Amino acid sequence: MELTLLGTAGPKGWPQPFCTCASCLGCTGPVVRGPACVLLDGTLLLDCGPEPAHAAARAGHPLTGVRRLLLSGPAESAPLAWLPAAGLVEVIAPSGPPAWLPAPSAGGPQWRQVAEEDTLDLDGHRIRVLPGGTPGRVAYEVTGTDGTRLLYAPPSTLPPEAEAVRAWTREGGHYDVVLLDVVSWPERLATLRRDGAVTEDTDVLAIHLSHESPPGEELHRRLAAWGARAVPDGGLVRVGADASPSPRPHRTLVLGGARSGKSAEAERRLAACPDVLYVATGGTREDDPEWAERIALHRDRRPDTWHTAETVELTRLLAEARQPLLVDCLSLWLTAVMDTHGAWDDARWAAGGREAVRADIAALAAAWRACRVPVVGVSNEVGSGVVPPTPAGRRFRDELGRLNATIAGESDEVLLVVAGQVLTLRSLPSPRSPWACA
Ligand SMILES: [Zn+2]
Repeated sequence: MELTLLGTAGPKGWPQPFCTCASCLGCTGPVVRGPACVLLDGTLLLDCGPEPAHAAARAGHPLTGVRRLLLSGPAESAPLAWLPAAGLVEVIAPSGPPAWLPAPSAGGPQWRQVAEEDTLDLDGHRIRVLPGGTPGRVAYEVTGTDGTRLLYAPPSTLPPEAEAVRAWTREGGHYDVVLLDVVSWPERLATLRRDGAVTEDTDVLAIHLSHESPPGEELHRRLAAWGARAVPDGGLVRVGADASPSPRPHRTLVLGGARSGKSAEAERRLAACPDVLYVATGGTREDDPEWAERIALHRDRRPDTWHTAETVELTRLLAEARQPLLVDCLSLWLTAVMDTHGAWDDARWAAGGREAVRADIAALAAAWRACRVPVVGVSNEVGSGVVPPTPAGRRFRDELGRLNATIAGESDEVLLVVAGQVLTLRSLPSPRSPWACA
């Protein structure tokens, strides 16, 4: 199966016309994206923008061989003014034709209204209509002449119920390529992974990009963390032949100051992964409403499928983990380690406390290196501000600096979050095998 992505944005495109946001003003040239539209094997068109013929011509694929258009939503919401001149054999949609469209007797295309679970054989492609998450919207599964399978699921077309997704894959196994609004809803990718519809061999392509998506390289960095990718408009994808996304990082350290957005970034990195174990190292603090509020805020942000462990026994967890881990955060872990060894006290620090703390850090680093599941750790970047007034404060600042440097040295990817912006400090290629997301 061969796809040409004629458009990869949402209905308004990216840039959104006349929008003055920084993202839209900066979106010029080859990164301009039109409304979602996919040309499949030169004969089928999945959804369309207002001028698919021009998009196709720019991509070097005239639409003269296209026989059918498949719409995923209501005809009224699709820009179909070009349709009467296109000479298509048939339009397939979950709704009836718009009133203005000429009847087939007057030169208009045949219109076939489909319902969930309909199966059609068209030009060698087997099409299955999948139940949409919203009335009037459907997703499509396409099996090509070579047996490769595609899932096309624009927004509002994926049912939230896991059982419905499982039913899709019961017969055919995983999809070879999935087109999905990954950026707005990475949790849906997690659902597809959990139910076996998406595996490490699936090429996940982001569609419905918009000015809400992160601009520039940040888009590609974020998608890569989710095991997905974005291709430019006009991009050609040979299903099963093109390389799948580059492997996701195995061990990631996210650094940042207070309220920098480091925890949100760490959570985002695992958002397309089902069954993450969130490791809260801060524990519970009785009679501290501010702490309770912070914890509640963090918890509300996390998907329901994630589990939480409140523990400082990180070294053991890293060795035993069988699911992806998010550790928030290493600075609180260090606080607990210093508590354990009485390291705040000058005399105890001098009498073996230092060695005990550093032994625990070395053991953590060894466990981090040996960890067999994806792990994302959060830590505070301190030491750039005022010098702490007490010896104990300075000691903690110094040991945290050492801890961060040690863990960073054992990580494939190190990020620094400043004012919500992510800087990549280190990005090393990592092998495929450690990822066992599902
Ligand atoms: Zn905009």
